[in-house]
Amino acid sequence: MNLIKQIEEITDKCISCGFCESVCPTLEPDGYNSVFGARGRVILADFALKESSEGLELGNSFYSCLDCYACVNVCPAGVNAGVVSELMRELVASGNRGTKNPVAEMIKTSIMEYGNPLGLKEESAEWADGIKFDDSSTMLITGQMYQMMPYTRKINKVRKYIDENLTINIASAMIRHISLIKFSRHFYNKQFRDKMNGDLKNIVSMLQKSGVKFNYLGAEEPYPGMFLHELGYAKEFKEYAETVYNLLKEKGVKRIIAIDPHTYDIFKNVYPEVVKGFKIPVVYYTDLLDLEYRKFNGNITVQEPCHIVLHNNNFKAMDILNSVAEIKLPERSGKSTMCCGGPDELLFPDTAKKVSMKRYKDLKAKSDNVITICPLCYNNLAYDENVMDFSEFMGKLMVKK
Ligand code: SF4
Ligand code: SF4
Repeated sequence: MNLIKQIEEITDKCISCGFCESVCPTLEPDGYNSVFGARGRVILADFALKESSEGLELGNSFYSCLDCYACVNVCPAGVNAGVVSELMRELVASGNRGTKNPVAEMIKTSIMEYGNPLGLKEESAEWADGIKFDDSSTMLITGQMYQMMPYTRKINKVRKYIDENLTINIASAMIRHISLIKFSRHFYNKQFRDKMNGDLKNIVSMLQKSGVKFNYLGAEEPYPGMFLHELGYAKEFKEYAETVYNLLKEKGVKRIIAIDPHTYDIFKNVYPEVVKGFKIPVVYYTDLLDLEYRKFNGNITVQEPCHIVLHNNNFKAMDILNSVAEIKLPERSGKSTMCCGGPDELLFPDTAKKVSMKRYKDLKAKSDNVITICPLCYNNLAYDENVMDFSEFMGKLMVKK
């Protein structure tokens, strides 16, 4: 079915009730402008396809959707405004409607050229210097997510002082001279980089102490292509994902251990649909842990990652956390969890910040100790030192074997 028909088939089911607006995290930060909320996105898509897209803010509306899928859980008609946004981005990215986003174009160009959204492939392997891995067909795929966070954090700090037009001009220049993106390697916060590298080492240590045998590809590790998929570059993503699959086959990979929800979701749900013959099973690292832990002295609250609790089902991390501390969940938890705003960080940093601050306050109202299970969530919610990544928190409680 062609893209326009696919979108219309979804938008035609909408009865315009507005239930989805109550859970959509991007509506409030954007001043309740309806095109930045779930219902508005569905109506806008419908109008742009059936009437006219002239003068409409298509790009910003659909690119700012976080793909959290909170909307479909409350929609009486089963409409997924997240999927509508994904398909509309595909339409925009293919040049069929609206205007392409220069920052998105820059990221796409960098991934296709360097295998990393910010040209940081080699830097992404440095954390593992000196770690001994096993000769195994089970491969740890970091997705380069923990590694990129210190850079996106610093870049956004700099962007605060840069006019939006200048950002667009810089992105446009980088599209023409993509090697300039390699300068990103100078923009990071050392303390934060050490912290994220420490989390990666904790994950490896917990897996190894659980008796899991696995290998790591180092600087050869492929970025799985999440941004290409999420930003609507369907053709490029297919081409890119096929090269990733060929590399994994060449390296004899028979099982993937993912350590962030985005990498887990893309290998579990997207690759099998897009890449012919892809059948490599993927497991989330927390599901492999088999350790003893001390009890934590206090209660905790948890930011459950949307890409696991809303897009997938199984998740052992909550059971582990439950075994060491009393969990006080925020009102929006489980299937109605709220996104941290992370996916908007590169394209819409202001929106990301407002969404994350709201979520941070919700979590802090339940407990001072906030546990995240995703590097994006951690990066966006770490407003104080009592916000901890699962790997840091459990690493401290692990009883040494
Ligand atoms: S909840 Fe569903 S039917 Fe109601 S406005 Fe949102 S998308 Fe449309
Ligand atoms: S997927 Fe999330 S951000 Fe996107 S429209 Fe639905 S609730 Fe809003």
